[in-house]
Amino acid sequence: MLIYGKAVSADAREELKGKVEDFENKYGRKPCLAVIIVGEDPASQTYVKNKISGCAQVGMKSLHYEYADGTPQSEIENTVASLAADDTVDGILVQLPLPKGYDEKKILELIPDEKDVDGFSPTNLGLLAMNRPRTISCTPFGVMKMLATTGVELAGKNAVVIGRSNTVGKPMAMLLLNADCTVTVCHSKTHGLAEITKKADILVAAIGRPKFVTADMVKDGAIVIDVGINRVDGKLVGDVDFENVEKKASFITPVPGGVGPMTITMLLANTLEAAVAKTQK
Ligand code: NAP
Repeated sequence: MLIYGKAVSADAREELKGKVEDFENKYGRKPCLAVIIVGEDPASQTYVKNKISGCAQVGMKSLHYEYADGTPQSEIENTVASLAADDTVDGILVQLPLPKGYDEKKILELIPDEKDVDGFSPTNLGLLAMNRPRTISCTPFGVMKMLATTGVELAGKNAVVIGRSNTVGKPMAMLLLNADCTVTVCHSKTHGLAEITKKADILVAAIGRPKFVTADMVKDGAIVIDVGINRVDGKLVGDVDFENVEKKASFITPVPGGVGPMTITMLLANTLEAAVAKTQK
């Protein structure tokens, strides 16, 4: 069966719309997300466009800062610092990756933890590791929501995550561990990858290599989540060989229309949460 992220996401956005309206009625302002993009990377431009239109769709305010590649680092830093100090801004997102030559870490460090709606800050990642989550990284957060729609009990399941990035693989593994799965994290130095993935009841691919996960790597009846977004001959392709793996999986996410739409929805949910948290200070 397909876990169709687009549909799960549409339902979640409808629910968010109501909550945003309640927030505005109560506090006299809309939750606000500020998005900063540097350079012309077409994929990043599309992601930012979708984030901005997502805000409009659920009734949130968005601020959009666009800089040409080559803009001095100090100018980007000044923008982030002023957004950090602005009380009407609830979330700040710097679209990654930044073009070569920018000190990404230095820019991200200027985002206060409470406005880190991407869930990338060391504090937010650390809290997740301690199973005291505050803001959860959007992509893995969305995957957990999608897993919930299967109705499958996660506790005790063998989960294998391929990929250990700080933004996807690691928080994904922590969320699955927090949900009582037995988790194995694989990466480029893992030996005997297929032997490990074949034992997975839940297999998450976050690698960035088109059709990397083939049917012989997958256990019959596994839940397969494809986080990958790869562009091949102008077409979007996941990290999973969907056509063949689909025949073995009990549930599988398509690309496009799977994890991608949920990621932006969770960003919107995180922004609303950040706005609400501010009112409770
Ligand atoms: P990343 O930072 O490049 O990490 C890729 C991970 O895959 C690394 O941990 C790497 O291992 C591992 N890997 C690479 N080759 C491997 C191999 N041959 N065998 C096993 N592991 C291997 O990428 P990311 O940011 O996590 O993103 C992963 C994918 O998800 C990309 O396609 C990205 O576009 C996509 N993505 C999608 C969404 C969405 O909303 N759907 C959001 C974010 C990312 P090492 O650590 O050893 O190098």
